[in-house]
Amino acid sequence: NWSQYEMGPPDPIVGLNESFALDDNPNKVNVGVGAYRSDDGLPYVLPCVREAEKINMSKDTLNHEYLGIAGDPNFVKLALEFAYGEDSGVLKEGRVAGVQTLSGTGGLRVMGELLKKGGHKEIYVPNPTWGNHIPIMKNAGLEVKKYRYYNAENSDLEFDNMVQDLKNIPEKTVVLLHACAHNPTGMDPTAEQWQEISKVMKDGNLIPFFDCAYQGFASGNAPKDAFAIRMFVEDGHNLATVQSFSKNFGLYGQRVGALSIITNDESEAKKVLSQMKMTIRPMYSNPPKHGAQLVSTILGDKQLTTDFIDQCADMASRINDMRIQLRTALEEGGDRNWEHITKQIGMFAYSGLSSEEVVKLRENHSIYCTLDGRISMAGVTTKNVNYISDAIKEVTK
Ligand code: PMP
Repeated sequence: NWSQYEMGPPDPIVGLNESFALDDNPNKVNVGVGAYRSDDGLPYVLPCVREAEKINMSKDTLNHEYLGIAGDPNFVKLALEFAYGEDSGVLKEGRVAGVQTLSGTGGLRVMGELLKKGGHKEIYVPNPTWGNHIPIMKNAGLEVKKYRYYNAENSDLEFDNMVQDLKNIPEKTVVLLHACAHNPTGMDPTAEQWQEISKVMKDGNLIPFFDCAYQGFASGNAPKDAFAIRMFVEDGHNLATVQSFSKNFGLYGQRVGALSIITNDESEAKKVLSQMKMTIRPMYSNPPKHGAQLVSTILGDKQLTTDFIDQCADMASRINDMRIQLRTALEEGGDRNWEHITKQIGMFAYSGLSSEEVVKLRENHSIYCTLDGRISMAGVTTKNVNYISDAIKEVTK
């Protein structure tokens, strides 16, 4: 008997794909889920990924054995170097415990479980944050609290309030930060602001936990997008990082990610790693191989890494062009200010549309974005930008 189960609501982000698929309007536009599209609106496989696929296919040493609980050690090494830098002191000192994870989402959940196990009761996240952060951490048994981050009134970071909130967080608490291209707002602290955040968190003995889901995708420059993480490491934080390779490498469905924690010394790193493995084994035993091997093939080869950075920059640049075109089209003949669309970076435009306006966009124009007004710029193309801007003007007039 299964009658005790009630119908659950559709997922606020992924559920949009289901409604979109059922919509028979030929002009329909999906700007909900954050997945990069070509200017023809089609899924995009990076040429360097195609190349890595060919290389891997030709290796007759490739097999389908299990990976270890912590994943592919070569992938983990390359992933950590990608985030912290090849010359990173903490990596050389063997102070970092790292595992391959089921992309960013899986890494976040492993971190939540690990924190709970280590006696942590709460985690702080920015307000707003990526919607899934909250249930991931709650389901791991943590209380989720928020620090102020973004002021919707003027579509800008509320930095002073953020700092004030950080100063009031009890010491040894874990605070989640978006490494770059904050989702959903597209607004990051400046370099000077990051320096201040680092200092406030050091003075308050807080533990930074970077969610790095857009490295290379934000600015088109992978080391630059890791600026905040690397600066915090320089400042001596024993921080943690979760990495996703979904967006930057376009490997969404392959579930490629990594979780790493900087510890005091090699022996502490080994203990933390053992706890990560004990957390993972009863959840899913070990991560999948294919995507991680693609990333290793690329990051393990100088030319393919250069190609990757160029191709990532191309995606970032197409999105920036779309930001300009969307803003220009929206401001044509209107008096509303849409400057924030070009000020924001990364995959999303945090449009400022109300939930009523979002529903009208969906019902009257078959344009699907999340209720908070977040528009995936990756789904905007030269073909649909005017349709989208006309519809937005219509629902906001
Ligand atoms: N963190 C943030 C901030 C994200 O935007 C996303 C993807 N939307 C993720 C984590 C996780 O994505 P994935 O599980 O595909 O890596």
